[in-house]
Amino acid sequence: MIRQYELVERVRGYDPGVDEALLNRAYVYAMRMHGSQKRASGDPYFSHPIEVAGILTDMKLDVDTIVTALLHDTIEDTDATRADIDQKFGTGIGRLVDGVTKLTRIELQSDQTKQAENFRKFFLAMSEDIRVLLVKLADRTHNMRTLHFIEKAEKRKRIAAETLEIYAPLAERVGLRAIKDELEDLAFIELHREVRDSICARLDYLGSEETETVEQIIEELGRVCAKNGVASAVSGRRKSPYSIWNKMQRKHASLEQLSDIMAFRVIVDSLEDCYKTLGIIHANYQVVPGRFKDFISIPKANGYSSLHTGVMGPRQQRIEVQIRTHKMHEIAEKGVAAHWNYKEGATDGQQPKWLNDLLEILESAEGPEDFLEHTKLEMYVDQVFCFTPKGDLIALPRGATAIDFAYAVHTDVGHTCVGTKVNGRIRPLATHLQNGDQVEVLVSRTSTPTPGWIDICATGRARAQIRRFVRQSARAEFLDLGREIISKAFRQADESFSEDRLAEVCGQFGAETAEDLLVDIGAGHQTARAVLQAVVPRLAGAANGEPVAALTDAGKTRKKQSAVPINGLTSGMAMHLAGCCHPLPGDRIVGIVTTGKGVVIHTIDCETLEIYHGEPERWLDVSWNTEEEESQQVGRLDVVLANEPGSLANLSTVIGHNKANIFNLKITHRNPDFFNLIVDVEVEDVRHLTTIIGALRASPVITSVDRARG
Ligand code: MN
Repeated sequence: MIRQYELVERVRGYDPGVDEALLNRAYVYAMRMHGSQKRASGDPYFSHPIEVAGILTDMKLDVDTIVTALLHDTIEDTDATRADIDQKFGTGIGRLVDGVTKLTRIELQSDQTKQAENFRKFFLAMSEDIRVLLVKLADRTHNMRTLHFIEKAEKRKRIAAETLEIYAPLAERVGLRAIKDELEDLAFIELHREVRDSICARLDYLGSEETETVEQIIEELGRVCAKNGVASAVSGRRKSPYSIWNKMQRKHASLEQLSDIMAFRVIVDSLEDCYKTLGIIHANYQVVPGRFKDFISIPKANGYSSLHTGVMGPRQQRIEVQIRTHKMHEIAEKGVAAHWNYKEGATDGQQPKWLNDLLEILESAEGPEDFLEHTKLEMYVDQVFCFTPKGDLIALPRGATAIDFAYAVHTDVGHTCVGTKVNGRIRPLATHLQNGDQVEVLVSRTSTPTPGWIDICATGRARAQIRRFVRQSARAEFLDLGREIISKAFRQADESFSEDRLAEVCGQFGAETAEDLLVDIGAGHQTARAVLQAVVPRLAGAANGEPVAALTDAGKTRKKQSAVPINGLTSGMAMHLAGCCHPLPGDRIVGIVTTGKGVVIHTIDCETLEIYHGEPERWLDVSWNTEEEESQQVGRLDVVLANEPGSLANLSTVIGHNKANIFNLKITHRNPDFFNLIVDVEVEDVRHLTTIIGALRASPVITSVDRARG
């Protein structure tokens, strides 16, 4: 375990002006808070944050990052709170520790590695400050180093797989080459120990055979450079077992078939020397075509720069040579972090310049070698990442609602959703989701989407599915309604109805099939009478007589058996309850076939009906389907209320006592003595509404109550 003074020494080594008191305070605080907690290894828990801090001193990170590393598990694993950290170490460090804690919680929440891509993006989106991510990577590195202490094999494998899928690519992404190699190797040991052992054994064998060769190549390359006036340090490096295995799998090749197990590195003093050395090597050895890459002119997105080339070496075998300066080498090994200047620009409360530099690099165009997708922190600001209760990650655009989430899970879930729980609490479907929300969709098999959802969705997928559903169900309803209307018209004319008879005339109405014609009738694009007359031409003469399919005064001639029964209608699309008269079950009603809308239901005494007097063919006798299960309808009341304290409360109490729900309430007029209100109440039928009106009239503060008309 690193001692307190050692840690301070390390930081002072690269940052002489470091705030030592701050480091010491954090060290002591973390030690005290973790107390007697133990790691799986049996070590005191406190050794973990210290080792994590130690890893970050290797990257020469600023004191805030080192302090964050020391404190990184205090909020999650001890009694410490964010407020404690803020108070003792300042809000800057509090924010960083909080960020790491959030990532830790996400990590605990889900064990899905198949969504690695999403997780990597999520991590970047959540790491608003890159230092949060660096601490998390160091945390994972130490956990991997001590992975073998965990007893459950299953848990070890899961952590190793997650490391390979998520953390190693993230480390590469931010240029932490050494960390990436270590994470990969540790995970490789856990997941495929035998494969790794055999690759290592094979490499050792090949290596022992070629040790002499390698030494010779190193010596010869150095000599050639020196002869041409370039001072260089040449080294030969065996590629990592994991990268070799990866390549074997990618190329379906055996170890022997891989040409460049060895990479030679020539490190020189200056940029000019890099290109000069390249020229020297190309002049002395035969170039392997297609292997030259200039990552100095075009650095990789993570800041890596070097010249790569492939040549036939001194012994006529293919070798890879990398040429770079000392500085490029350090960046390649330790990431851009190694060259940040901590003091620069950090004084005015803005992001230090080095942070901006790194962000710039992350944002820069991806190089051809970059196996990760082009990512940058800002890129995910317009996305939110939410979890299903099982921990699956769903990525949605910012502004997405629970409905979008439901459709992202499955179309059927979307179609039947009725509500949602966000982080365990019931929320409206229109709730905008936030990063990290856990979303549970509540469904009801009998529920269906409403067109209004289209406006509260942010994803094209949800909108398209809702539109499709609405279109299809509208067609189905128009079809049923059309069949109902036309068969009634046939019955009244004493003609037998069949779809075959319709099929004969559908061409006349521009419909392809009898079914299309029925839909047109239901939607009000064709009248039942016109269709009936086309099928039975002798009825054409009756055009000026009694309307065939409709009754001008449904009230007088209403026959129960000939009326079209209408159901609950709350979500009906082919039949609507008129907004002018708000018919209720029990009211005497009539349907008006309205082009494109289907049938609109009015009460018999509704004034709006006057408009349709000249068009008897639009009228349709309808009746309430009383066998339908009870459903709630909205009745509208005109209320005049005394303007005194408690009068509104009195109104709602009376309505509540009568087991009705106020659906909407609007003040239309007010003066010093009275309010005029429109009150929409959900009631079972007209009797229910009448009861409520009676009760309201009995109240002393209510001046008058009437059903709203027209
Ligand atoms: Mn930790």
